[in-house]
Amino acid sequence: MSLTKYCEYCENEFEALRDSAKYCCDSCKTLACRQRRVDEQEQYEQEEIRNAALQIEREKLELIEAEMERQLQLKKQAQEFQNQVLLERQHKEEIERFEKYEKDKVRRQIEHEKRMKKADNSAKLTGLAALGFIALVSKIFEEKR
Ligand SMILES: [Zn+2]
Repeated sequence: MSLTKYCEYCENEFEALRDSAKYCCDSCKTLACRQRRVDEQEQYEQEEIRNAALQIEREKLELIEAEMERQLQLKKQAQEFQNQVLLERQHKEEIERFEKYEKDKVRRQIEHEKRMKKADNSAKLTGLAALGFIALVSKIFEEKR
């Protein structure tokens, strides 16, 4: 018993002896086998190309991430530097305030000493004047006796 089928390679009608027959002749079978290999090879190559493209995309993403990380680090460093500058400025201002305070203290001390000396001198002068006056008065009295 034979059955009418269509060759899977040339698509011609043929009388098949077995139900499992797919090709009309050996040459179609060989060509179909070769075609399959070619298709498989092409599929494999396309997959390779897809994998390569995917790899490139992954590497691109990694580069982008690395760049973002670098930018973040730079920003952080800039922030730290700014903080440090700010701290140093504050420290400097504190030192300046302290120095000004110390200078003012010394200046006030000097002014105070000057005032004290002046007062002391005028007291001495007053004392001397008083002594002179007493001496003069006692001299006058002595002369009058
Ligand atoms: Zn055929």
